[in-house]
Amino acid sequence: MRKILLDENEMPKYWYNILPDLPEPLPPPLHPVTKEPVKPEDLEPIFPKALIKQEMSNERWIKIPEEVRDVYALWRPTPLIRAVRLEKALKTPARIYFKYEGASPPGSHKPNTAVAQAYYNAKEGIERLTTETGAGQWGSALCFATKLFDLKCTVYMVKVSYYQKPYRRVLMETWGGEVIPSPSDRTEVGRKILEKDPDNPGSLGIAISEAIEDAVKHENTNYSLGSVLNHVLLHQTIIGLEAKKQLESIGEKPDVIVGCVGGGSNFAGLCYPFIKDAQKDGIKIIAVEPKACPTLTEGAYKYDYGDTAGLTPLLKMFTLGHDFIPPPIHAGGLRYHGDAPTLCLLVKHGIIEPRAVRQIPTFEAGVMFARTEGIVPAPETNHAIRVVIDEAIKAREEGEEKVILFNFSGHGLLDLKAYDDFLYGRLQDT
Ligand SMILES: *Cc1c(COP(=O)(O)O)cnc(C)c1O
Repeated sequence: MRKILLDENEMPKYWYNILPDLPEPLPPPLHPVTKEPVKPEDLEPIFPKALIKQEMSNERWIKIPEEVRDVYALWRPTPLIRAVRLEKALKTPARIYFKYEGASPPGSHKPNTAVAQAYYNAKEGIERLTTETGAGQWGSALCFATKLFDLKCTVYMVKVSYYQKPYRRVLMETWGGEVIPSPSDRTEVGRKILEKDPDNPGSLGIAISEAIEDAVKHENTNYSLGSVLNHVLLHQTIIGLEAKKQLESIGEKPDVIVGCVGGGSNFAGLCYPFIKDAQKDGIKIIAVEPKACPTLTEGAYKYDYGDTAGLTPLLKMFTLGHDFIPPPIHAGGLRYHGDAPTLCLLVKHGIIEPRAVRQIPTFEAGVMFARTEGIVPAPETNHAIRVVIDEAIKAREEGEEKVILFNFSGHGLLDLKAYDDFLYGRLQDT
């Protein structure tokens, strides 16, 4: 069977929270000034109570509100697809399945959490959300989600992307969002940076600082983050919970699970529901990151800030340093200096294997996928596909009939400039 579908009424009713199942308690986030463990009240200026509770919850299963499931039903459950033509092209005995998260309206997994976050904020009387975006994947997911719950949305978009990648800005504005190139003169952080350097191209860290400042300084305004935090990963587990049901329905079990990692949310969303089985059955779980931003493979495991200005709590994670500025690779969603603390803990314990890949081989993999399976993957997703192809080739060489599952985190139809650069030899691997 090529396409394994679930009925709408088979969509999971609970998200899976990994916190109670970690090999050791998660080191707590620390207050940026006092360096004491963060208290729920500390987060209330920027997050709704329901999300703060989820962030710290030890409940294994958390109910997905009906209103959220109702919006999910616009595109969920997403299909699980067997990549038969890719298998044939690789002459591999491996069976390759991908969970197609490109099926959402914004084209990636990100609305799985954007919709939940918009819902909880609206329910607590918030009227506007602020956030940051790099290439615009997260910003467009949040503009889509806030519109459905009648919230306003202000997106600080990294300035260089704002001018170089106009299409996602148009998408955000089509869904009613306000998009501001960052650094901007809207915030103190932004004004300070512009004073010193009027041509500053911006970074994700600066945009986060601006979005948080805006939320803290305005009534009925909260901030929203698209990756890294526990509640974000929690909402993404619907991906793995659906995939598990879909594989079970055809009597398959994964031997290898692969995903790309920016902050870790789509990867965790797919693999966390399998983690217990992984330890029991020896499933190999591979987290793929860019060699240009090698957080898990070369970062230090220590407390660090989530943003440039040091406004966020300190998180214990693998980090390249909060002032790290990664080279401008096309996989904008993978250029973050840190990673989700739960994912880092699982890497530290050897339960998840990190792997770093270079940009050009990821595009070779993405083009091969497009030429066999038809769908053009996002540059981020190409990182996962590179390792899937490597594992499938290894299965061929070793004559092993493996089941490989990977997360197709998004399509690349708004990233065609990157493909143009690849196809015409303008891509570089530094
Ligand atoms: C944002 C994004 C990623 C990386 O973010 P994670 O939180 O690590 O999942 C990966 N793929 C796509 C398509 C994205 O938009």
